[in-house]
Amino acid sequence: MNAKTPPIASIEQRLAAIHTVLDEHTMEPEKFVDTFHDLASEQWVPANGARLVARAWTDPLFKQRLLDNGTAAIQEMGLSMPPHHRHFVVLENTADIHNVICCTLCSCTAFTIIGLPPDWYKDLEYRARVVRESRTVLKEMGLELAEHVQIRVWDTTADTRYMVLPERPAGTEELSAEQLAALVNKDALIGVARL
Ligand code: FE
Repeated sequence: MNAKTPPIASIEQRLAAIHTVLDEHTMEPEKFVDTFHDLASEQWVPANGARLVARAWTDPLFKQRLLDNGTAAIQEMGLSMPPHHRHFVVLENTADIHNVICCTLCSCTAFTIIGLPPDWYKDLEYRARVVRESRTVLKEMGLELAEHVQIRVWDTTADTRYMVLPERPAGTEELSAEQLAALVNKDALIGVARL
């Protein structure tokens, strides 16, 4: 055997080749990274979902619209989702029902509304176990639910994204919408915490 090792271009040469192709397609990788970073850290944040929750807590008619057709209702608040997120479904927690979301296939969330998925959400263990032993998984994550509380697990699909509408905490009657929104976090919007 006298097979010659094929020549391998250096990293610099390969990078230059990729840049050349991107340039030919008028794509600007640096700009894309900056834009994506801005979107992910400034615009796709759980504060968006928190605003929806605070309004739903204080405006019963908006809450009904949000539950009836989330995709339409979020537009009233100046929010939007990518076109492939065709249905935005809001799941209301009550004293007897607790909702929790997951994506058993991968890591999908309504990221423009509740933010990008946390690492644990993408973890195979969470994805596999939350559907089989949700009560145990929630307990391990610090949320111990009373026996009478029914748990509903919602698995994200290709064109449906979910958000949990947490229960309004007691003693918050005097708070403004802004103060109410500040109580809501990503864990509560996913359903691994209650407020
Ligand atoms: Fe997914």
